[in-house]
Amino acid sequence: MGRAGRPERGRREAPAPTTAGRTARASPAIQSGLQLEAIWSQALLRRLRSRCPQRLALRITDNVHTMLSFRRRDGLLEVRLHHMFLVAPDPVVASLAAYIRGSEPRASEVLDRFILRHRWLIRRVPPHVRRSRVPIRSRGRHHDLAALFDGLNRELLGGKVDCEITWGAAPRVKLPRKSIKLGSYSADSRLIRIHPALDQAHVPGYFVRWIVFHEMLHHLHGITRKGGRRCVHSPGFCADEQRYPALERSRAWERENLDGLLAWEPEAEAGEDVAQLRVAAGGRR
Ligand SMILES: [Zn+2]
Repeated sequence: MGRAGRPERGRREAPAPTTAGRTARASPAIQSGLQLEAIWSQALLRRLRSRCPQRLALRITDNVHTMLSFRRRDGLLEVRLHHMFLVAPDPVVASLAAYIRGSEPRASEVLDRFILRHRWLIRRVPPHVRRSRVPIRSRGRHHDLAALFDGLNRELLGGKVDCEITWGAAPRVKLPRKSIKLGSYSADSRLIRIHPALDQAHVPGYFVRWIVFHEMLHHLHGITRKGGRRCVHSPGFCADEQRYPALERSRAWERENLDGLLAWEPEAEAGEDVAQLRVAAGGRR
């Protein structure tokens, strides 16, 4: 998100998404109908034109990431603005114009603040759509994650877990690893990912099942706060985890086999998945 030296082309991004839920509300565009949006859009274009010497064209968007962008084409400056700007007060429109003109460094700050305050107008991407960007593959060569998940849900968790599970892609790392994230849960996507290193014949089923169980508990417990600090393994979480029948055996297996897991290398064909795991950041074990 560069700030300086881009009078020709610029972009303002939405604030980083959080795992906490955001209240979904209909945008003003939906509430007031397309006709009103067209009228506001014309009004906003006039307000911008009165402050910019360039020839301007305006397009209103419902983007999720890019709130403001512009580019010059054939002597025309095409400005794309999220619909939150339709209701922008004069000082913000003045900053928009200044930003487009490439002048006044303070304009950036005003725009960032405005975007942050109006982020509730940004369309929320539902979990199933986020998830559809990740291929779900639960049947491995040696362990079937969906079967483990269903069994745990039925036998130990009263069928309360409602999320998806997949083998994760193999992240590109320098070997030997210092640590390995055997599982993660993303509340945003409602998706559990299990590290592909566990899909080996010598990794016992009870161990994979423990990792799956642990991530299912993350889905059920969420993140609690203790004195302002995030607490992912609350006392309630730990007490629940004790209900896993092979807990001690699993921990012992992990201690004895950690070096092997740290040294695990993906097979050649897994290479195609490498880029994608970066998106999984935010999940945690
Ligand atoms: Zn955990």
